[in-house]
Amino acid sequence: MSSDRESGSIDIHAPYDTTNVFARILKGEIPSDRVHEDEEFVAFRDIAPQAPVHIVLIPRGQPPTSPAGIDATHQALAGRMLRAAAEIARREKLEAGGYRLVLNCGTDAGQTVPHLHLHILGGAVLGPLA
Ligand code: AMP
Repeated sequence: MSSDRESGSIDIHAPYDTTNVFARILKGEIPSDRVHEDEEFVAFRDIAPQAPVHIVLIPRGQPPTSPAGIDATHQALAGRMLRAAAEIARREKLEAGGYRLVLNCGTDAGQTVPHLHLHILGGAVLGPLA
């Protein structure tokens, strides 16, 4: 199988980088089109949407760099993240048509931001993969 992806530099087990773009969004240093905020999560519209509705949901603070960093201490967080995503999808009126939730992990998945995040995609028939 061939791939035209360049080899990336995401280290899925790296310590948290406090200068990553999502950390800067959380600090208010970079603007974002927020659709949801609570004490634990922030969700905003993706700057390069891959579907009519494309929202990125992120935990506040310094979560794992990628899904690979989810350990026993993050199990409840991961569950609440899925629940928040489903609630946001409902509010975005995606339930009738359906939607996709995506967690990218590392280079081959195309992960570019080293802060755990979940994509919410919908609003059209999606291809077989995100
Ligand atoms: P991933 O490729 O899974 O790491 O997802 C990172 C996502 O963040 C990509 O879909 C980007 O388009 C998105 N993104 C990067 N910078 C911003 C930003 N400033 N505001 C909103 N979304 C962003």
